[in-house]
Amino acid sequence: MKLSRFIMVFAVLVFLFAFAGTALSQRGGDIVTFVSEILKDTDHPLTDAQVKQLKEIPQNREAIQKLTEILTEEQNDLFRRNLRRRRGRRGPSTILLKDGQVIDPANNINGKMDVLVDNGKIANVAKNIKAPEGAQVVDVSGLYVTPGIIDIHAHVFYTDLLNNYRWVIPDDKCITAGVTTVVDAGSSGANTFARFKDEIIDRSRVRVLAFLNIVAPGMHAEYENDHTQFKVGPAVETAKKYPQTIVGFKTAHYSSRDYDEFHGPWTIADSVMAAANIAKLPVMLDFHPAPASDGYPERSFRDILLKKMRPGDIYTHCFARMFPVVLEDGKVNPDAIKAQQQGRIFDVGHGGGSFVFLRAAKAIEQGFYPNSISTDLHAGNSNSPVIDMCYLMSKFLCMGMPLEDVIRCSTINPAREINRPELGHLSVGAVADIAVLDMLKGKFGYPDVGGGKITSDKRLQCAMTLFGGSIIFDLNAISMPEWEDIPKDSSYWNPASFAY
Ligand SMILES: [Zn+2]
Repeated sequence: MKLSRFIMVFAVLVFLFAFAGTALSQRGGDIVTFVSEILKDTDHPLTDAQVKQLKEIPQNREAIQKLTEILTEEQNDLFRRNLRRRRGRRGPSTILLKDGQVIDPANNINGKMDVLVDNGKIANVAKNIKAPEGAQVVDVSGLYVTPGIIDIHAHVFYTDLLNNYRWVIPDDKCITAGVTTVVDAGSSGANTFARFKDEIIDRSRVRVLAFLNIVAPGMHAEYENDHTQFKVGPAVETAKKYPQTIVGFKTAHYSSRDYDEFHGPWTIADSVMAAANIAKLPVMLDFHPAPASDGYPERSFRDILLKKMRPGDIYTHCFARMFPVVLEDGKVNPDAIKAQQQGRIFDVGHGGGSFVFLRAAKAIEQGFYPNSISTDLHAGNSNSPVIDMCYLMSKFLCMGMPLEDVIRCSTINPAREINRPELGHLSVGAVADIAVLDMLKGKFGYPDVGGGKITSDKRLQCAMTLFGGSIIFDLNAISMPEWEDIPKDSSYWNPASFAY
């Protein structure tokens, strides 16, 4: 072993030992619980055999060395990364959010209540909860407390730098908007997913999940109409290999020009549906109607919605100008109503070109709500007109959708659409992913992608984000004391405590 490698491994082991040791003693737990908790939501949880081996490890200085031997290379890697993420968290593990207006549509809660968080989980939601000994109490009166926001259509494969589409860094755009789970919508495919996972998914603080593009290189303009790249087998294999991370398949940007025997009206739709049927996962479609051409029949909106899509499949960009969810006479398309009633999902996927008020406002006015609100964030729309989830949620609120429905479409609905029912609610025992939202009053304008706007007196702004029970964003520092009030025996007053 080279000296540098030896030093690195030694440093990692010392760090692991120190941190794992501290965490173990804090939790009073055993090594099996500790390790399995860290690996449980990953694609490489502990096997029964490993649990058995871990139970036999003596809890002394050699424990960490033994542990690294028992875990696979992938598990070791994930364990190290997740430890590092945990290490970045501060503050006590018991937090009481006091006097907020709790909106938790999954549990039919909309009222003034307290939320108690303990050890990463929701411990209680009730009126007047007494703060347990040592709990941090945060006054959230005047604010809304909701489940962590879920955005099921974004593009966060930021390190795919040769891609002409440009993606965003998930932590940068999610945390300040209360988003604790973001789903990448097909930026990667079977050929590129492992790199996406390694470079972004496993290193992000928020939970990053993915729809896998049926196009094997992922969402690259040069391959999206190349039938040789629509690879069902590799897509299914990749989805099976990463069941905790891949939630479905995606197809987008398939053109209707120049049909031939390899490039027919439905070629890519048939490929993505084949993969979805084998893997038993939903599909997210960005797929537009097209007229008859080159001797091939019309690809009708009705056939897309009612014949190709299965209940549970997701039609994204639902308020785009080119999709007739609202007809030219301003009425909601009866086929869309029927499709939604039968369980097809209408997702916003706002993006830089897929949201106009002449569709959305008309639909909302007639009571046709999307099932989920999502951004379609990428570098081309992240400054305008999308900004972030809170900004989009504000748009729907200002179009007249009740706040509770806006929250439902940004929490429990998207959680169910991606088959992650453990997310998107504040049930006791659920992971404590929480958004605390402020309703600003003033004069605000909201643009669509076509150059139109609406004006309103409301804006939702994220005041605080908790991920896994830790405060990771606190816009107005409501969880902190005034600096002059910090007790004089605190390390705050010791200059050495700021050194690193
Ligand atoms: Zn997209």
